[in-house]
Amino acid sequence: MKKKAIVIGSGAGGAMTAKMLNKEYEVTVIEEGKEFHPLSVSMDMLAKFRKTGLYFDERLIQLFLPNMRIDNSSHEMVMVYGRGVGGTTTLATGNAIRADEGLKRIGINLDDEFDEIYQEVPITTDHQRFWTSITKKEFEVMQELGMNPMPMPKMLRPNACKLCGHCSIGCPTRAKWDTRELLNGIQVITGCKVTKIDISGHEAKCVHATKGLRHFSFEADVIVVAAGGMGTPDILRNSGIECQPTLFVDPVLCVAAPMKEARQNRQLLMPFVSQREKYIISPYMDWLSFFFNKDWFRPMDGIASLMIKLSDVEQGDVKKGKMLKTLTEVDQQHLKKGVEDCREILLRMGAANKDIFLGTLNAGHPGGMLPLTPNEANTLHSPLLPDNLYVADATILPQSLGLPPILTIMALAKRIAKNIMQ
Ligand SMILES: Cc1cc2nc3c(=O)[nH]c(=O)nc-3n(C[C@H](O)[C@H](O)[C@H](O)COP(=O)(O)OP(=O)(O)OC[C@H]3O[C@@H](n4cnc5c(N)ncnc54)[C@H](O)[C@@H]3O)c2cc1C
Repeated sequence: MKKKAIVIGSGAGGAMTAKMLNKEYEVTVIEEGKEFHPLSVSMDMLAKFRKTGLYFDERLIQLFLPNMRIDNSSHEMVMVYGRGVGGTTTLATGNAIRADEGLKRIGINLDDEFDEIYQEVPITTDHQRFWTSITKKEFEVMQELGMNPMPMPKMLRPNACKLCGHCSIGCPTRAKWDTRELLNGIQVITGCKVTKIDISGHEAKCVHATKGLRHFSFEADVIVVAAGGMGTPDILRNSGIECQPTLFVDPVLCVAAPMKEARQNRQLLMPFVSQREKYIISPYMDWLSFFFNKDWFRPMDGIASLMIKLSDVEQGDVKKGKMLKTLTEVDQQHLKKGVEDCREILLRMGAANKDIFLGTLNAGHPGGMLPLTPNEANTLHSPLLPDNLYVADATILPQSLGLPPILTIMALAKRIAKNIMQ
């Protein structure tokens, strides 16, 4: 009889671990969210209601997109994450960047795992033929400014892409790859929230979960927690395992200007990227700001917008599903520099300085509260955890990447599953 494994969460880390363990274990994935459904209402229709004042709180997005969660309790910054099969990868813009420099520095070499991922996931830069004139212009300007823009590798089947610009609210054609594709043939229990794990000595015994008003417990030989940077710390703490207040989130701020017929709403989000020292810059239609930030109440096709994604100081916490974090002085300085860069680009594209406006500060890459150290370079297993309990998601990343983390999380999850099977 096969041994049993429970994987908590079906996002980047959870789905990859489940797929790998499924070779040798009887795997059950426990997922708090339900099946993912992309936005079902037309953007044009939603946009019409902006001026009615109906969209006064970002959390309302859940009414139209039940798998997207917003935590705006911090007042400074809004946290965006996914609750549903596929986790936050269903809301991702498909960027596929290898970001393991920090892991290499502490002795973790994931070359084999990245090679395997490049074989298993459709990753391409073959989308430049779709670029709109504004994207080409932005690319040229950034080249002139010596910012070295590069086409973004995407987890994408370009021929199925309808250029609807909905990547971050759910790809309607599934041209964009997400981790639901790893879960074929694996039992996934949806709508089931894990609360804690019973631990006795060096062994994790049983997972407790609730589904509606009912309580369930699941026994397993191996348990993998992959509930993401916003979910895993609460589960660990409820189970008696302390996490560190080292939350990073990769804050995002968009800098935009009115630009007639920019049509950025009808193209692949983040088609190219310029990597600066502490942040990246990439064209991005910021739907969150478009609906909830009054400065963005303009025609949908008349905004040119650039995203700054920052590598932030690892300082902050998650408690009871709420982000406790404020930007440090250093973060603020980097952000300011990023805004200056974007302003320069927009001015060169013909925008007037007085017309430039900012988006809502938000974040979507929470992690880092049980960071790997050089001592765990081989095991990828914290000594704080019982022998048969693993964490395989963004929580174990040792530092903020300031870059899209899905590939790196999946590579770590692959290695963790291999270690478990050995
Ligand atoms: C708008 C947006 C765009 C992004 N674009 C990109 C991109 O293009 N490229 C990229 O690399 N990254 C992108 N990211 C970030 C990326 O999606 C996440 O960093 C990544 O998915 C995190 O993986 P994870 O396994 O740690 O957690 P997640 O993918 O969030 O998975 C966690 C899973 O655990 C489940 N869960 C949570 N708590 C519980 C519980 N108590 N019980 C049971 N299940 C639970 C959740 O429902 C979820 O399914 C984006 C993020 C956002 C918000």
